[in-house]
Amino acid sequence: MGGQSGEMSIFVAKFGGTSLASAEAFRKVKEIVYADHRRCFVVDSAPGKRFDLDSKVTDLLYECHERIKHGQDFDPVFALISERYREIVRELGLSLNIDAWLSQIYQQMQRETSPDYAASRGEFLNGLILAEYLGYEFIDATEVIRFTADGFLDLEQSEALIRQKLDPKRPAVIPGFYGVMPDGSIKTFSRGGSDITGAVIARGVRAELYENWTDVSGFYMADPRIVPQPKLIKLITYSELRELAYNGANVLHEAAIYPVSQVGIPINIRNTNQPEEPGTLIVKELTEPRDCGEIVGVAGQKDFVIISIEKALMNSQLGFVRRLLSILEELKISFAHLPSGIDVVSLVIHSSELKEKLDQVLARIEERLAPDKIEVVTDIALIATVGQGMAYRSGIAAKVFNALGKAAINVRMIDQGASGLNLIVGVENKDFIAAVRAIYNAFVN
Ligand code: ASP
Repeated sequence: MGGQSGEMSIFVAKFGGTSLASAEAFRKVKEIVYADHRRCFVVDSAPGKRFDLDSKVTDLLYECHERIKHGQDFDPVFALISERYREIVRELGLSLNIDAWLSQIYQQMQRETSPDYAASRGEFLNGLILAEYLGYEFIDATEVIRFTADGFLDLEQSEALIRQKLDPKRPAVIPGFYGVMPDGSIKTFSRGGSDITGAVIARGVRAELYENWTDVSGFYMADPRIVPQPKLIKLITYSELRELAYNGANVLHEAAIYPVSQVGIPINIRNTNQPEEPGTLIVKELTEPRDCGEIVGVAGQKDFVIISIEKALMNSQLGFVRRLLSILEELKISFAHLPSGIDVVSLVIHSSELKEKLDQVLARIEERLAPDKIEVVTDIALIATVGQGMAYRSGIAAKVFNALGKAAINVRMIDQGASGLNLIVGVENKDFIAAVRAIYNAFVN
């Protein structure tokens, strides 16, 4: 595979907040970048936490904006941010005039109505510092990342700009997390969005590899906070990862996958503190068998609500489900799953989507669909067991249900994803941890 120029192989390396949280962290990043000349485009996050109770600069920037909005004093918060950057610049012995930048930002923040400008400055400043430290050019994200007027990433435009402005012969640092709107204002992605910037840059330059450097050695087969020392996933497909991420696993922003998956650029999750480890490689297809067994991982999330609607002969009523879904659309609620039976259909919705709208949903269902029965079950956790070809392998579902049965966990819902990649079970919130552990242990130990 070649790079944009046809002969050069290019890596895009994105470094997360903890990888750029202090001067010491910057030193490790420099070593990593310099160890392979293919790492010619670097995307940075804002300084993250240095220790457990530390603050993330992005959080502090949002707080500044909030305080400004409410006419409160934001100087003490801004001082914390300033000190973080001054310390890094000082310890790295750089000549960058960080105070000049800070005072410009201090002024501008007070003129902006949206929080995006303030939030984006974390990556902007870190990018300036990293560029000088690496001896790379600084290319502002506003030059290459575009949003549409309605606030979505404009992938086509961004790609065109990247091709125009980034030249592998001139290595550069590009700040993550934000871009520019057609009216020239700054817009950020959702939290964790530097991953998306990295993916868009990798796509634009047709990188051979998109490296995502963070503080863990890759994706684990289960959340380490739930399963002690789970196995690391060495190789996973984009679709499997999508399933795990959609179902609650997070290391990489979920919107960071499609810009690269569409063009087949592999993503490599790596650990800045353990650069010798190969990490997790995310690829389009598995070209060789993997040694991780029948499944690639288990992930889950709590706090779903299941609304089951029963109506005799529902199946023969044309448009029943469409009318049901239009109620959600009107109320701007997105659903997670829609399992159905002969005379019953269930809406599975995360409670954060539903908020205080449940009564409205139920009233509209009663009014427009005249169901025989509606049942609402709250506090449900969904757990996805993921692995390519799972649906076609016998015995996998049996293993999941046996494990849950043995742990005396009651299954409230089952959904075999149409993709054939996963099996989803719904259990009560209180059984969440035990259920994830039981499933993991059934396959791994
Ligand atoms: N700094 C931003 C955040 O904390 C974006 C990122 O780190 O990817 O969400």
